[in-house]
Amino acid sequence: MLPLLQRVAGLKINFYISPAKTAVMLKSLINLLFPDSCPGCDALLLEGETVVCTTCRHSMPFTLHHEDAHNETAKKFYGRLPLEHASALLYFHKEGIVQELIHNLKYRRQQQVGSLMGSWYAPFLNKVAALNDVTDVVPVPLHPKKLRERGYNQVAKFGKALASGMNIAYTDDVLLRTSYTKTQTLKNRELRAGIINTAFDVKYDNSHIGKHFLLVDDVITTGATLEACGKLLLQIPDAKVSIVTIAYAHS
Ligand SMILES: [Zn+2]
Repeated sequence: MLPLLQRVAGLKINFYISPAKTAVMLKSLINLLFPDSCPGCDALLLEGETVVCTTCRHSMPFTLHHEDAHNETAKKFYGRLPLEHASALLYFHKEGIVQELIHNLKYRRQQQVGSLMGSWYAPFLNKVAALNDVTDVVPVPLHPKKLRERGYNQVAKFGKALASGMNIAYTDDVLLRTSYTKTQTLKNRELRAGIINTAFDVKYDNSHIGKHFLLVDDVITTGATLEACGKLLLQIPDAKVSIVTIAYAHS
């Protein structure tokens, strides 16, 4: 049919479409068939909206912890762990946007949520005097078995975005998770704390001495995991530790 039409019209029609154009067309088609939705409220993202929709962006429960040295996150560690700085970006409320965001980040491979949170937080943390000499972002590690199951550490993208925005190193081989226990299911708090305390290990050499580590996690609840990890980092001679999380949950 087409050759006939071409002949009738007496024109040579060029049907060639460049690979780049094909990719753009395919992407538009995929977006049309499977539009990106907001990981905070599930609404379809409009053109110009990236990762999180405008409504969610305007209703984010920011803590502003970084403006106050004696904030709630810092207070959780009083008498437990000496820290240079501790803060969380957002408040975690049950059934709220942040719970939805963290759930999507953790269980639905929506890693862009972590990157966005890190890129939001870095400029604020750059203004915190106590973090002036920070050298390395260290994520709370997952056990290798868990990492294989999930395919990624949910805090990695957040940590990498912070490291990039703060112009410091991202170091994910200094802390190790050595035991694989679902502590969340254990009711006994002391038993849980005991297991958490022995679940991690630190591996360092001379290059880690005297560093200021920014330990990062997704949500802080009791702080037991971060406390265990922070104590291990402080075994490194002359090390300093600060803590930053995406969200703060009242425990
Ligand atoms: Zn939304």
